Amino acid sequence: MTKIALQAAADPESRENLEKTLLEPVVLSELSSIRGTGIAEELATIYPGDMARIGGVKSGRASEQKAEWEKLQRGDVVLFMRDDMVFLSGIVTYLVKNPDLARELWGEDDKGQVPECIYFVDEVKDQFIPRKTINRLMNLGDDYDWPGFEVHLEEAAAPVVYGYELESHVYFPIVSEDEYKQIVQEIDRTSPLDTEGRARLRKEDGFLRDQLFRGKVIEECGICGNKYPTQFLIAAHIKDRWHCTTEDRLDYENIAMPMCKLGCEELYRRNYVTVIDERVAVTRAKVDSNDLKAILVRLSGRVCPWFKGSRKYFDWHTRLGKYF
Ligand SMILES: [Zn+2]
Repeated sequence: MTKIALQAAADPESRENLEKTLLEPVVLSELSSIRGTGIAEELATIYPGDMARIGGVKSGRASEQKAEWEKLQRGDVVLFMRDDMVFLSGIVTYLVKNPDLARELWGEDDKGQVPECIYFVDEVKDQFIPRKTINRLMNLGDDYDWPGFEVHLEEAAAPVVYGYELESHVYFPIVSEDEYKQIVQEIDRTSPLDTEGRARLRKEDGFLRDQLFRGKVIEECGICGNKYPTQFLIAAHIKDRWHCTTEDRLDYENIAMPMCKLGCEELYRRNYVTVIDERVAVTRAKVDSNDLKAILVRLSGRVCPWFKGSRKYFDWHTRLGKYF
């Protein structure tokens, strides 16, 4: 699940910084302090359009802020406030501590400090939410004054994240293989959607997405074969996730494949299509809509490159489909 960072533009300097790199996107290839580095390379895969919005937090003497920044993960939400109003939200995509980059972006303050704890955001949206409303939803007390930068953990953040539909479906927490293995052992089918359960599912999704899409801007849908930006693709469980055993989940190289949000994931999940002997097969004999029928005809018989290692999971899905 998702944490929330509250970023207040309390003084003229932080307001100016916000305007410089959040309201206006930054051209990444023009940043000389990171040119030719691994950071630039990673950013290029996240921002293929070369434009990113960036925020920063000072460490140094204001070390509480650094400790807050260290709680952030990819996929967390940042709310930006000025004049007692949240006016912008964004999703954390990348975190890096880099004084040279901070100096290039914002310059030094009069004490020679720079906001070197940097976060990149995407999915930036205009908002118009009074501070009081956020305070109330997060149980902070109506008049809670936001410090410069503060991160609130999942449980407290949930009413805002879900109430305003802020959770990203593209950016998920980064999860190591060991952590993934641990998480799937802990998935509890009896209470899957409490706070901890949701957090595990997001980590599971994050790991599977990274396995399938890491470093790729464009990937092919396993059903229709169309190539889409990865934000239009889901790392979809081939066997329904709620029916997966721990062993199925540990087989992470074969349990999921890319399916597009432009129809295929829905058609597969609703058992209109499946994959039999390497080819997409239509499982519904009767479809009421002619337009839908035309889509199914186009998909039927396409070769699915993910079939080989995943045959048993497709077989499971095909057996389920026979009831429709
Ligand atoms: Zn598709």
